[in-house]
Amino acid sequence: MSTNLQTPIDYLKGVGPNRAELLRKELGIHTYQDLINLFPNRYLDRTRYYKINELQRNSADVQIIGQIIKFEEVAQKRGKRLVATFHDDTGTMELVWFRGHKWIRENLKLKTDYVIFGKTNWFNGKFSMPHPDMELLKDHEKNIQSVMQPIYPSTEKLTNKGISNRVFIKIMQQLFTETKGRFTETLSPELLNSQKLISKSQALLNVHFPQNQELLARAQYRLKFEELFYIQLQLILKNLIHKSKIKGFPFEQVGDYFNTFFKDHLPFELTYAQKRVLKEIRADLGSNAQMNRLLQGDVGSGKTIVAFMSMLIALDNGFQACLMAPTEILSVQHYNGLFEWCNKLNISIKLLTGSSNTLDRKEIHENLENGDLQILVGTHALLEDKVKFKNLGLAIIDEQHRFGVAQRSKLWRKNSSPPHILVMTATPIPRTLAMSVYGDLDISIIDELPPGRQAIKTVHRYDNNRLKVFRFIRDEIAKGRQVYIVYPLIQESEKMDYKDLMDGYASIERDFPKPEYQISIVHGKMKAADKDYEMQRFAKGETQIMVATTVIEVGVNVPNASVMVIESAERFGLSQLHQLRGRVGRGAEQSYCILMTSHKLSNDSKVRLETMVRTNDGFEIAEVDLKLRGPGDIMGTQQSGVLNLKIADLIKDNDILKTARYWAKQILNNDPSLASPNNAAILNTYKQMSKYRNIWNYIS
Ligand code: ADP
Ligand code: MG
Repeated sequence: MSTNLQTPIDYLKGVGPNRAELLRKELGIHTYQDLINLFPNRYLDRTRYYKINELQRNSADVQIIGQIIKFEEVAQKRGKRLVATFHDDTGTMELVWFRGHKWIRENLKLKTDYVIFGKTNWFNGKFSMPHPDMELLKDHEKNIQSVMQPIYPSTEKLTNKGISNRVFIKIMQQLFTETKGRFTETLSPELLNSQKLISKSQALLNVHFPQNQELLARAQYRLKFEELFYIQLQLILKNLIHKSKIKGFPFEQVGDYFNTFFKDHLPFELTYAQKRVLKEIRADLGSNAQMNRLLQGDVGSGKTIVAFMSMLIALDNGFQACLMAPTEILSVQHYNGLFEWCNKLNISIKLLTGSSNTLDRKEIHENLENGDLQILVGTHALLEDKVKFKNLGLAIIDEQHRFGVAQRSKLWRKNSSPPHILVMTATPIPRTLAMSVYGDLDISIIDELPPGRQAIKTVHRYDNNRLKVFRFIRDEIAKGRQVYIVYPLIQESEKMDYKDLMDGYASIERDFPKPEYQISIVHGKMKAADKDYEMQRFAKGETQIMVATTVIEVGVNVPNASVMVIESAERFGLSQLHQLRGRVGRGAEQSYCILMTSHKLSNDSKVRLETMVRTNDGFEIAEVDLKLRGPGDIMGTQQSGVLNLKIADLIKDNDILKTARYWAKQILNNDPSLASPNNAAILNTYKQMSKYRNIWNYIS
């Protein structure tokens, strides 16, 4: 009988309750299965021994053969450190321990050959290795399992508590002993054959204890393929089940609201992309299935009107609609924009945010429930339990990346039957990534900007050119334009950032004196009402300069603003820079984005700045961003949709991802319920996965 991989890790010989607790806490390893899926970060070539005189200042892990000559205790700020002098025939170095001195002195032998292994530091003119892994040379030769030694991901705490890489290797070996290295196959024979994949057991053995380079590569390929395959399979299945099981409200007709708006009030000709996306949405809304669609479109591509016209379809069928935005400013702006259109059509619309007063709230709640209110716009406030709709037919979420998956589903549950959902994002996500992260959503893309837009001219200027920049700003203002000046604000250095913002504001006030110039300032510490007041002044053209932190990043729309100055631009991420730049270029005038930096720039900052200067294409920028930051970061760390992969890498392994998706689709096409005996392994694995973890565990 094979070992049950769901066995708690405590039961593995050599682990015990203390280590088990640490493994759970530090690495989330609860079961045998979790441990076997702890894949090495890299491998050490155990045939390679370094000589002390070959060490480089920043060498990675190395192994060295040599002897300890003496021990010495050295006093330091707190406690002592134990230092051993270690030498080989080429030189001398130090081994250092901060803990466990007694044990080490009692157990390590002087003048005896050891193999030491670890990272070396250059300290006080000498190489040293803190807390080395040590093994007697004679044992080492016996113990060697594979020429490539796995190096496991670990944490400082684990290392401090004595769970070294060697311990990891030991317990991993124990796991292979207890399971006899036999693991249930998780892919179908068809897949194994067509993709020339090695078996699960072979792959696991070789990923932990590679027999040779080639087998290691095949093991990694197989495990990456498997990981991506099951994510795709789950996403596609979820989508299929969703479509078949979750009935949506079929919006059968396009009625008066839509038609009247289209005929009489359309403020501009829709772009081809807007029309195509509207058709896609219309088709979803008209079908029996609930819509779950992601609408991607670069800043300024015109998502709002698509959202509004989709709402009109809901209203035409007697349903209510809502639009949720991540910030107060943005929801106010949406509300103001939609209000005008609604007025023309005699549609009732209200705004609900954290700062709505009790009386307004009460009225909104009542009118929502009795159906008098047709459209509700607002912030997170929409998610409150008190907000109940009579018949919510369509929920639109702007700037998805700020809301989590959980919130999406909360909206969902606002009805007896889930409303159609349209999620809009201006963060362009490369399609392949979107596919794997939002695979449960259908995707529409507005890939065309409204006509007549001139490309924004972007330049990079150093701080010492500020006077020239100010002169340029003055000229633009003289032409009647408006200007944003944005300062970074990140939580860790909030105090400093506010100081920079206020200093900047003061100096701008000096250079642009009243009454000739009027300046607005908006930042996160202001009351919502004050922010709104300042925004409104700028939007109405009463002020020419808007000094702000990134609160204006999302969605703010002042077409007359044509200059965006970004201070300390090196501190912003690419997608943030792109979002900020999107605040200008919204009118007919030539717009400019000026990236101000100091002379000190990291290589990554240089790439970001060059990219911004080179292109306005959000998707191209997203690709570069993805390469620089990795997929976890691109949507922000605490945000939705971050895949938590164990071995695959969405960027590097993009080809594997595509193949895996192709096969997942193919298999489900031919055998939607995975009932064929050929697919038994897949069905089993899928069931296991759904039992022990939900797909949303991948998406944190
Ligand atoms: P975003 O996709 O960033 O939310 P918006 O919906 O705010 O973009 O639209 C940006 C600006 O472009 C708005 O001022 C809007 O009125 C205008 N706009 C949208 N679609 C068109 C179009 N087809 N033709 C001309 N202007 C348009
Ligand atoms: Mg928008």
